[in-house]
Amino acid sequence: MKITIKVDPELCIGAASCVTIAPETFQLNEENKAWVLDHGQSPEGNKYERVIEVSEEEKENILLGAQSCPTLAVFIYNEEGKQIFPEL
Ligand code: SF4
Repeated sequence: MKITIKVDPELCIGAASCVTIAPETFQLNEENKAWVLDHGQSPEGNKYERVIEVSEEEKENILLGAQSCPTLAVFIYNEEGKQIFPEL
């Protein structure tokens, strides 16, 4: 399935818990903000939002990373564009 992952750089405080849990998806940039990777790759460079193809297991891990964020700076949307985290 495809999910969209978005980090709000205004909310991100560089706590890096998302990076610890899901290093293939989140990495801190030079401004200490988490950017979004596609399985460890960053094909079009530094991006705060990316659509990636994931397995159920990968999705669960990325959700854990998002849940670990102290400022809820990570937003996740499903294929239909519905926000699945944080739950509305
Ligand atoms: S856990 Fe949240 S605050 Fe920390 S780096 Fe990730 S997005 Fe930023």
